[in-house]
Amino acid sequence: MKKVLLGNTGMEVSIAGFGILPMGPSQLALPIEEGAEIIRYAFDHGMNFIDTAQYYRTYPYIKKALDGGNYDHVIICSKCLEDDYDSMMEAIEEARSELGREVIDIFLMHEVRSGQLEEREGAWQALKDAKEKGLVRAIGLSTHHVDITWEAAKMEDLDVVFPLINYAGLGIRKGDAFATREEMMEAIHACHLAGKGVFSMKAFGGGSLTAHYQEALDYVFAQEDIDSVMVGFGKKREVDDLLSYLDGTMDPSYQPDISKKKVHINHEDCEGCGSCKAACPAGAIYYNKENGLAEVDHDKCLTCGYCSPVCPVRAVIMY
Ligand code: SF4
Ligand code: SF4
Repeated sequence: MKKVLLGNTGMEVSIAGFGILPMGPSQLALPIEEGAEIIRYAFDHGMNFIDTAQYYRTYPYIKKALDGGNYDHVIICSKCLEDDYDSMMEAIEEARSELGREVIDIFLMHEVRSGQLEEREGAWQALKDAKEKGLVRAIGLSTHHVDITWEAAKMEDLDVVFPLINYAGLGIRKGDAFATREEMMEAIHACHLAGKGVFSMKAFGGGSLTAHYQEALDYVFAQEDIDSVMVGFGKKREVDDLLSYLDGTMDPSYQPDISKKKVHINHEDCEGCGSCKAACPAGAIYYNKENGLAEVDHDKCLTCGYCSPVCPVRAVIMY
């Protein structure tokens, strides 16, 4: 698989990276060995970049995969949602210990939202100190927000940014409002010009665009300001699909079978705002009485996808 330089980090990454979230406990909950085998399969087919996070609880899959071959060259990115210094340092130590790596290649502030940079100053300082001590090689942030992506372009100590972008503009935010893909691409362009490494997330909008597989990939891979595209995998066949897309052997009429996929609400992200419930034509969304968050009644759900674009935090996912 083609490799490119990730901004000014000096790291060479494959143009597609392995997003590990789908195989983990919050989605498919694959057995560790099964997940590790899919990861090794991707590594053995030229992918050298993998994205995880403290809250995904997926380190055991990566460790198992790394132990099964010579994968020292693989570049690992992890991230932490906490905003204070000590929690970020603990997250870095946890990653080093659980992944069996002295140095984590990339560590990020996870999902930074509009207005949060100040309150996450402690976490950012921890990342800078960790880099200074040689515990991590590059630091940055992940975000769904256009304004934060613009901020990232201006942050001198920031090496990489991991923004959300897809052809339909699903899930892109600016403050409390939705924003367009064009607005996000302008901010990404500024990051690229500033020498930041850029790798993107949610090319399929959390599963909502999987039915438009090639269109979704055509859009992100055509963006010269994006160095690498993280794609989530939970099956070996999905890795094969991406490989055949990238080597140009995919039938132009191919679309993956998504008939067995269901709509789910990620309670780590849901804010209980009710937009999905209002958009649902089938009355399939209700509120969980214990936490006030949305739930899907799969007996009623038509998998029409109307709920997905209206969710401000991309909590509606399909797998
Ligand atoms: S996919 Fe359609 S039917 Fe199912 S919960 Fe969403 S809006 Fe309702
Ligand atoms: S639209 Fe999103 S955040 Fe709002 S209730 Fe539905 S899933 Fe939760």
